[in-house]
Amino acid sequence: MAGLSTNSGQLKKRCSPLNNRNLQLKVNLMKKIYTCENNLSMNHIKNVLENNGIGCLIRNESLGSTAGELPPIVAWPELWLKDLSQESAALKLIHEITTGPPEVNVDWECEQCGEQIEGQFQLCWNCGGAVEFTA
Ligand SMILES: [Zn+2]
Repeated sequence: MAGLSTNSGQLKKRCSPLNNRNLQLKVNLMKKIYTCENNLSMNHIKNVLENNGIGCLIRNESLGSTAGELPPIVAWPELWLKDLSQESAALKLIHEITTGPPEVNVDWECEQCGEQIEGQFQLCWNCGGAVEFTA
């Protein structure tokens, strides 16, 4: 009977690393797709992605309270993608957000009258409608 109790002891030992591995697996299903020192632009990117149906979350966002324990570079917020199948769409959106601010010199079409308006104008010269970006 001494052998039995030894076995159950080994089983218990084996259990906890197994659970840790399962947790690790869940983390690996997500992917860090962007990091940035600016919390505001990070939130903006997250909002745009979510508006486009791309699930994501921000990590390290609220490290302000514990920042003293970490070098600043570690405390940069990170944007994590929840669904890897959306990676290319997410990266495309991030590229658009970070490289091309849509309010500068992009021609737009008035939603109300269909007039083509030059990018530097925020209002339609024809009907006064405001510019609306769908992205
Ligand atoms: Zn118009």
